[in-house]
Amino acid sequence: MIISCPHCRAKNRVKAERFNDEPACGSCGKTLLAGKPVALGDGSFDEVLAASRRPVVVDFWAAWCGPCRGFAPVFEQAAARHPEWLFAKVDTDASPQLSQQLSIRSIPTLAVFRDGKVVDRVSGALPAAQFEQWLAAALR
Ligand SMILES: [Zn+2]
Repeated sequence: MIISCPHCRAKNRVKAERFNDEPACGSCGKTLLAGKPVALGDGSFDEVLAASRRPVVVDFWAAWCGPCRGFAPVFEQAAARHPEWLFAKVDTDASPQLSQQLSIRSIPTLAVFRDGKVVDRVSGALPAAQFEQWLAAALR
């Protein structure tokens, strides 16, 4: 699957069987899948969810959405604090199939997936402390 590096945006090809071995970016050498949210979309989401042994925390957003932009730093900080989970962002405008498949009706929508299945989701931007509480409860 193709993963865009969250640090330098270089496109990296990651094999499903190597997905959980902490792959590093071929261009900048930083860890691809921990510490910073990765961008996923129609072409990569299902594959990544199937391959990831870690829970996946997803922020469904769009560039025109003010609350989404307000929430972005909260999501980034959580990703930096929790390298044990995979944080991903899905641009709903660029991924209409996925938005329809998951019935995303308002943004931001936050969802936690484990073993490829959604375990919890919530609509609306959460303040940092509430987001942490919600994550802890969803991943308990
Ligand atoms: Zn890179």
